[in-house]
Amino acid sequence: MSSPSPATADSTACLLKLAPFVQGRVRRGIVGSSRYAQRLRDDIRKAAADPLAPPVLISGEPGLEKDNIAALIHFGSRRRTRLLVRFNGALLRPDGSDLFGPASGQGEGSVLDCLGDGSLLIDQVDLVDPELLPALLELARTGKWRGPSESAPVHHFSGRVFFTAEAPVPGFEGLGAQIRVPPLRVRRKDLGEWLRYGVRQRTRKLGWKQPPEVSETVVKRLQTYDFPNNLRELDGLIARALRQCSAQQPAELPEDVFWTGPSHRYQGLRFDLWRWKPMLRDLMRSPRLWNGLLFGLVSWVFVLVNLWLWLGPQDRASNGGLNLFWTWWWPLILLGYPLVGRLWCSFCPFMVWGEIVQRLGRRLGLKPRPWPRGDTDRWGAPVLAAGFAAILLWEDLADLPNTARLSSCLLLLITAGAVVCSLLFEKRFWCRYLCPVGGMNGLFAKLSILELRAQVGTCSGSCSTYACFKGGPAEGEGMATGGCPVGTHPAHLADNRNCVLCLTCAQACPHRSVQLRLRPPAADIQRSMAPPAGETGLILVLAGGVTLTYWSKLLGWLPLAPLSLQSGPLLPRLAFASLALALPAAAFLATRWLAVPLRRQRVLYGLLPLLWALLLARYLPLGMVEAGQLLPVSLTPLAPDLAATLPGWSADPHVITFCQSLVVLVGVVGSWVLQRRLRQADRWRWLLGPLLVLGLGAGGRWLVALP
Ligand code: SF4
Ligand code: SF4
Ligand code: SF4
Repeated sequence: MSSPSPATADSTACLLKLAPFVQGRVRRGIVGSSRYAQRLRDDIRKAAADPLAPPVLISGEPGLEKDNIAALIHFGSRRRTRLLVRFNGALLRPDGSDLFGPASGQGEGSVLDCLGDGSLLIDQVDLVDPELLPALLELARTGKWRGPSESAPVHHFSGRVFFTAEAPVPGFEGLGAQIRVPPLRVRRKDLGEWLRYGVRQRTRKLGWKQPPEVSETVVKRLQTYDFPNNLRELDGLIARALRQCSAQQPAELPEDVFWTGPSHRYQGLRFDLWRWKPMLRDLMRSPRLWNGLLFGLVSWVFVLVNLWLWLGPQDRASNGGLNLFWTWWWPLILLGYPLVGRLWCSFCPFMVWGEIVQRLGRRLGLKPRPWPRGDTDRWGAPVLAAGFAAILLWEDLADLPNTARLSSCLLLLITAGAVVCSLLFEKRFWCRYLCPVGGMNGLFAKLSILELRAQVGTCSGSCSTYACFKGGPAEGEGMATGGCPVGTHPAHLADNRNCVLCLTCAQACPHRSVQLRLRPPAADIQRSMAPPAGETGLILVLAGGVTLTYWSKLLGWLPLAPLSLQSGPLLPRLAFASLALALPAAAFLATRWLAVPLRRQRVLYGLLPLLWALLLARYLPLGMVEAGQLLPVSLTPLAPDLAATLPGWSADPHVITFCQSLVVLVGVVGSWVLQRRLRQADRWRWLLGPLLVLGLGAGGRWLVALP
């Protein structure tokens, strides 16, 4: 018995019945040029053109717009003038009355009866009540169905049936046409096209004059993320990104407005310090505390230290300021990396002066510019590495640790960079891209057991202001701020590199989304990480700092080698210092034939703990011999007699050597673990990393140990 079409039955009643379920149009086509996208397009074309119009099962992970694929087939077929109605399988009643009519009825006037030769889409058939599944299977296979009543006659459905499923459904395996939709993570090549398409679509709806550009850097970074919720998640990500820039409507979307969930496996091992001690959170969020500390204390201490360096004696044995800088600051900052990451940046006087000058400039009418467009890391990272290399050469050739005024010049030079950038650009451009100390801090902060992150779920689900990133007025418990000074979103942070731990986001957030957490050491260093272009150069320069310090052990035997880097003709000193500094980079370049760049880069990141250990071992003798002499050293120029009576402490050389060996051993163990984490699946190559660690550890220990 054939069912009447809506035109012949009571068409108005039928249309009213179908209206809530009608899917009237295709949302979009299949975007992308990968072979997966092409195959999907072929499958859709084939299913649409099939004259027999068999049932179609479209399966795949959540968020893949499988219902849209059903619509593409329906509206691409001969039935495009007929209706397509969509039902959520999870909501269908077990007796099938949603489709087959009321329990007492014979099926007349039901949805299927009204639909005629239109198409029926059952979404999420894997969630349909098992009692109803056989009837749906029968409908799909033979077109036969009957009303829920015992006496109801058999009807024939002349339309087409579509199913979507996220999991296998027993009995549906061999049904009609089967289309498997590949998840976004296997179609990474299509991501750029999806992103740009989504941005165009949304900006048109939002009424932007021009759709902004999306850089390749953003695409590459997002390609490392798995998108567990596929297109749905990508859509949410685009919507969030545009909301964050809605005021400026930039010509190119900044990288930091695109933030995703965490993508690596150690994400579970975290301990939220602020939840454990809420008082600590209140204390650390206090603007009064930070303003008092930074602008009332740190800024003036910095001025005093510089005056001390300029006006006091010039050697380290009699200048307490010089002693503070080289024997306290350096060992302490290195010791602090694995524990507190780049905490120094929270108290950094360079940037305090940068901010003071920026505020003064604003009062005088100067308006800093927005940051330059494009991938600043591409040129910023090499400039930063070159700056660090220049500082290392200067330090050794001019004997900075023993020359107070030059040490002060180094501090003032970094401050000048912060001040100039603060006058030219908004926020803290210097800290984000150019500060050499910040570059080193960001690199070693990846080893830290401390991290600051926002919860992606709260940010994407509860927030519409994004005050942590954009800044804005006070709202709820969120305070008025100017937003993250380094242009980072705390939910976007893939590692500690771009967070200066200023806590502005924690002050601004009205939803308590920001957490200060403990985690396993070096949790940022994973196979899935996407380090910025040029950071490798900084690692090699820092390693060069170690070889430069011990240049005589490595290069002293060469003919023409100077007796010292600090005295004699400049040219040979400069040549040998540059050669020593370039040794690690040369060794890295020489391994080009061994592995592809990505693998060599991973090996280099795996060596970070060893590099940290060698740098610390380098500064340990200074700290352990001279740091304890701060009081007598500081008072010697003013009251030598009194200074002689003051307590001083120096470690025994054997103790220092033991501590250096211990530190190098810690570095070797850390790098060994990381090499295993980052190791190649390759059968033999995975051995190379640990062997390299052992070799470099032994060589490094020989290099840095006291004679
Ligand atoms: S990045 Fe440099 S200038 Fe900025 S806070 Fe850190 S050390 Fe200071
Ligand atoms: S951290 Fe707070 S302010 Fe920022 S997006 Fe998340 S919930 Fe919003
Ligand atoms: S605002 Fe938050 S994310 Fe940005 S640098 Fe400060 S602490 Fe880090």
